[in-house]
Amino acid sequence: ADPSVAPQELLASPLVQIQQRSALPLPIDLYRDAQGRGRLNSSGLDLAVPAQRQTLLDALHACEVQTLTEASTEDVQAAMARLQAGAPGWSATPVAERAAVLRRAADALQAQLPQYCALLVKEAYKSLGDAIAEVREAVDFMRYYADEAERLAQEGVALQGRGVFVCISPWNFPLAIFAGQVVAALVAGNAVAAKPAEQTPDVARRCVELLHAAGVPGSALQLLHGQGETVGAALVGAAPTAGVCFTGSTQVAQIINRQLASRAASGAVALPLIAETGGLNAMIVDSTALPEQVVDAVVQSAFRSAGQRCSALRLLLVHEAVAEGVIEMLRGAVQELRVGDSALLATDVGPLIDDEAFNTISAEVARLKREARVIAEGRAADATARLLLPLAVELKNIAELKKEIFAPVLHVVRWGGDVDAVIAQVNALGYGLTLGIQTRIDSRGLRLADAARIGNVYINRNIIGAVVGVQPFGGEGLSGTGPKAGGPHYLLRFIAQPGAVADT
Ligand code: GLU
Repeated sequence: ADPSVAPQELLASPLVQIQQRSALPLPIDLYRDAQGRGRLNSSGLDLAVPAQRQTLLDALHACEVQTLTEASTEDVQAAMARLQAGAPGWSATPVAERAAVLRRAADALQAQLPQYCALLVKEAYKSLGDAIAEVREAVDFMRYYADEAERLAQEGVALQGRGVFVCISPWNFPLAIFAGQVVAALVAGNAVAAKPAEQTPDVARRCVELLHAAGVPGSALQLLHGQGETVGAALVGAAPTAGVCFTGSTQVAQIINRQLASRAASGAVALPLIAETGGLNAMIVDSTALPEQVVDAVVQSAFRSAGQRCSALRLLLVHEAVAEGVIEMLRGAVQELRVGDSALLATDVGPLIDDEAFNTISAEVARLKREARVIAEGRAADATARLLLPLAVELKNIAELKKEIFAPVLHVVRWGGDVDAVIAQVNALGYGLTLGIQTRIDSRGLRLADAARIGNVYINRNIIGAVVGVQPFGGEGLSGTGPKAGGPHYLLRFIAQPGAVADT
C-alpha cells in the first residue's frame, strides 16, 4: 500500500523478533522462533485435551479461597526479628542446597498445577489459559533462578545475602511475580518478608507453605498479609530491612524509594530498590505491515488478561495508509471477543480485579468516550460483575494520552511522514517497558528497536508474555529500575557483594 517502498524490499512472511535492552553491557540478544512465542520450560495442561480439561474443571470445582487475617504491627515486628535472626544461617547454607530447595518447590508446584490454576481463577479472576501460563511461569522462575545461582557460584560470585529482603508483589501475577521475587531473593541468600497484594493473599500463602515444605526454614521466609499503606510501609521502614523488591505502580515505587532513603539508621549508604512498574506501551504499525497480523497482535496485547498487565498495549500508532483497514478489522475482532466469567473455557476477557479498580476506570472510560472517537467496543456475554467492555478510541495525537489505564482500553493514533519522529515521541512518554513494531522491512524494525528507550521490544508479534530465561522482562525510565526479571543480571542485585566474576 505504500508507494515509497519497492515490493522487493518487503518480506513475504515477516520475521518475528524480540530485542532486549539491558542497562548492563549485555550483547543485544535477538530471539526468533517460528511461532514467535518463545519457550516455556515447564509443561502445562492442554485445554483441548478432554481429560486434561476435566482435571482443571474438577480442581476449579473443589477450590475454596480462604480469607487471611491482616498482619498487625506486632506480627510485622515479630516476623522481622525472626528473619533477622535467621538470615545469617540461611546465607551460610551452600548455594547448591538453596538451589535444590527451589527445584523441589518447582516440582511440587508443577505437580499441583491444576489446584494452583483453580486458585488463580477464583482469587484473581484469571482466565483458564492465563492461569495455566502463570503457574508455568512460576515454575520456570524457580528452576531458572536455581540454575542462575549455581552458574554465578561457579563463576566465582559469592552468593551472600544482604540480610532481610522485603518483597512486595502485585495482584495481576499473584503467583508468578510473587514467587519470582521471593525465590530470587532467597536463592541469593536473603531472608525474605513477603507481602502479597491485599487482593490475592491466599495463593501467596499456599506458595509460601510450599516453599517451607520444600526446605526453606520459617526463619528465612515469612508471609505478611495486609495493605501497602500499613503492612507494606511497616516492612519497608523496619530496622532489619536491607532491600526491597517491588512490582506495582510507578507512584508507589517512588514512595518506597523516598521511605528507604529517609530511614534514620539503615547501616548502608543506600538500600537497594528493585522496582518493576507501569508502562504506556505502544505498537508502531508502518504502511507495509500485514493488517491480519497486526490485529491479532493488538487483540492479544491490549485485551488479553483484561488489559491488566503492565506489558499490555495502550497505544496503537498506525500509519495513515493502512489505518482504515486495520481499524475496520479491529472493530470486528473486538466484537467477537467473549467478555464474561473467567472460569468459563470460552471466555476471552474476564472482569477487573475489584470494585475500586472498576469504579475508577469506569469513570475514566466515560470521560474518554466523551472526549475521543469510539472505534470499537465489546459486549458482555453474561452478567459477571466488574466487566469492563474492551474499548478502542481514537485520539488526535500522542500527547492526548496522559496515563496508564490498567484495563482493556486501547488508544489509537494515526501517523504519517517520518517513522523516526514517531519513535522519538514514544520515547518522550518517559515510560519504557514494552514496544511493538509491525513492519515488513526488516532493517526498519531493527533500526526502530535500536532507537527505542524501551526494555522489551517485540517485532511482528504481540507484546505480552515474556518468557523466563528467554526474554528477560523489565523497563527503564518510569517503568522500572532493572535488572530484568528472568534474566542473567537479576540475582546480582540481591547479593551483598557482586564479587569478582571470573573471566571465562
Ligand atoms: N511479564 C508479564 C508479561 O510479559 C507482565 C508482568 C506484569 O504485568 O507485571 O506480560
